[in-house]
Amino acid sequence: MFYSNSYQTATFDTILMQDSILVMGKKLCGTTIDELRSFLLEMGFNDDHASRILISIYRKGVKTPREISNGSGEMRNALATHFSTGIFPPRNTQCSSDGTEKYLFRNDSELEFETVYLSEKKRRTVCISTQAGCRMGCPFCVTGEYGFRGNLSAADMINQVISLPGSKEVTHIVFMGMGEPMDNIDEVLKACTIMTSKWGLALSPGNITVSSVGIMPGITEFLTRSECNLTISLHSPFPDERKKMVPAEKKYPVRKIIEYLQLYPHKKKRRLSVAYIMIKDFNDTNSHLQELITLFKGTSIRVNLLPFHKVKNDNAETSTDERMLFFKHNLVISGISASIRKSRGADISAACGLLATDLIKMHQPG
Ligand code: SF4
Repeated sequence: MFYSNSYQTATFDTILMQDSILVMGKKLCGTTIDELRSFLLEMGFNDDHASRILISIYRKGVKTPREISNGSGEMRNALATHFSTGIFPPRNTQCSSDGTEKYLFRNDSELEFETVYLSEKKRRTVCISTQAGCRMGCPFCVTGEYGFRGNLSAADMINQVISLPGSKEVTHIVFMGMGEPMDNIDEVLKACTIMTSKWGLALSPGNITVSSVGIMPGITEFLTRSECNLTISLHSPFPDERKKMVPAEKKYPVRKIIEYLQLYPHKKKRRLSVAYIMIKDFNDTNSHLQELITLFKGTSIRVNLLPFHKVKNDNAETSTDERMLFFKHNLVISGISASIRKSRGADISAACGLLATDLIKMHQPG
């Protein structure tokens, strides 16, 4: 394990691997079982092989379609002619003093995005990006400052998990990296399907959490088509104040979303939560606490309290540990499930709200 505050340079081999993807046709990474079955049938092969082929890609780490161990030689040749694995390694890596790892990817459309890998006890979590940049414009977030560069495909999202050195140990995935998942909902839902299918990553939907600032049309789609967990970035219980922190509030008031989540007939047990970044003397007053209690008492929605990470030119400071504990204690004794999330990876700008810091630096003129 190495510790570094700046990105490590990619090796020549990894760049060659990335470039080889550009000259090949379809990619197996990002393909669903139905898509692969259609291809196999079209080519005159038995589509029963589809599941094992995809397991080789998503869980066994094969480097080329020829390495896939099942099926005839003829079928493997056809796969190798028409497909690459589509798996590309990170360009660069950084490691925090607390063990958090941050990876930089560049896809074949030249979009750059970051991924964070967190280990804690038996849990290995990958925090993935859904967009290169973001158009939501939350003022406390560096990704918002980076601006929107483009949507990532489901293949890009899956690749952020399966191309990492620790991919085989991953237990949880959170869609909390760069971008607003509900602004790219079709690709996010396709990625969730691959992550939770037996022929895919075979993770439980309960181990996958998608976050949103609260984009109603995307949330409606998400609840209908996925069983994964959902977390809403709240940050203030007061609409006028929230509009300043989360501009999406102007179009989609979070109170309406919370009401909708409460009334929605969830088919299976799904964890619903809100994220509340705590800023000293701004949203950590007694009236904020009281309003949070009024909003969430009697609901099954969990409140996750997070420390604030300073963005440059910002005078705001994070709430003290004591204040965060005070909030948690009062929420819990009011019957609300609440937790305090630790800050991870702040020294490599991998913490909440800091992704894209290095991309902005890398592209600064001079
Ligand atoms: S907090 Fe999330 S939604 Fe807001 S700008 Fe940052 S990445 Fe986008």
